[in-house]
Amino acid sequence: MGLRPNLLTRRAAGVASTTLALLLSTAAVGVVPAASAYSAAPEGASCAEPTDVHSDARVRGGSKAAHKRHDPNELTAKQVQEREADFAAALRNSTLRSKSSLRAGATEGKTVALAAVTVPVVVHVIQRDSTRAGGNIPDSLINSQITVLNQAYSGATGGAATGFTFQLQQINRVTNAAWYPIVQGSSAERQMKTSLRTGGKNTLNMYLGELSDDLLGWATFPKRSLDVMDGVVVLGESLPGGTATNYNQGDTGTHEIGHWLNLYHTFQGGCSGSGDSVSDTPAEASPAFQCPTGRDTCTATGKDPITNFMDYTYDSCMYQFTAGQASRMVNAWTAYRAA
Ligand SMILES: [Zn+2]
Repeated sequence: MGLRPNLLTRRAAGVASTTLALLLSTAAVGVVPAASAYSAAPEGASCAEPTDVHSDARVRGGSKAAHKRHDPNELTAKQVQEREADFAAALRNSTLRSKSSLRAGATEGKTVALAAVTVPVVVHVIQRDSTRAGGNIPDSLINSQITVLNQAYSGATGGAATGFTFQLQQINRVTNAAWYPIVQGSSAERQMKTSLRTGGKNTLNMYLGELSDDLLGWATFPKRSLDVMDGVVVLGESLPGGTATNYNQGDTGTHEIGHWLNLYHTFQGGCSGSGDSVSDTPAEASPAFQCPTGRDTCTATGKDPITNFMDYTYDSCMYQFTAGQASRMVNAWTAYRAA
């Protein structure tokens, strides 16, 4: 716990603000947004071979074997290269046409003028039935999750302030046994998202439920055009106060939204090359699990960033984004998600 000096403060603040968050929330139980505004892409690959380089996953467990079995969506060097080229092009286009208040031309690693970006959040609670075991996550946990996100992204837990805040717009409860558990890469996942996804590219759609393959969550990276699959899928019991031991302080949500805002894992690329394309996260050879203080897997400067939200450590171990990650997320917002 010593690794996370602001943890107690953060949790206490989370409790204190829960009442306010409940009052402010615009929960609309049972409302299913129309899906007709969004055209579905052709059916994707089967779950056996996830080919969508725009998504990524976080896993439970503490072994490399579990990691390999359950996190098939890490990007190859070639995929990263292609995504980075697209990012640079999209950023050029957006800054040419942008009337946004975001500072044009901000580059990774520099301190950007922090824009106040408010992200509307729609939470879809996928349930098998009305029991907690059947996915019925209470509103109180969802409100606590929003509080955790806002603390994480504001730097209140010890990292860089990113400029992003998250505002809950709607809680949409859906009872459908065919979508429970949510199976990564399945046709059912696509059906679910086609039916439920709402809002533009700036709207964060968060799907909660029991997940396949012992996964904690997965996310899509941003794309230039709106994709019906866009959003984050998070294990419902990983929300603050949930039952997922060691992963129940809400940081799966924080991590997956990092991907949604274009961050890679801190261990992307291992010790060589441009790694995670962020200059102030020390290189890391492989994911860190639990909380291995002092871990240092690359000869390059700096110990492994095990306390970074984009690693695989316990929620109690991770508490920060870096300034470089904040800058990358702001640029990605400009390039891909800003109106
Ligand atoms: Zn991840």
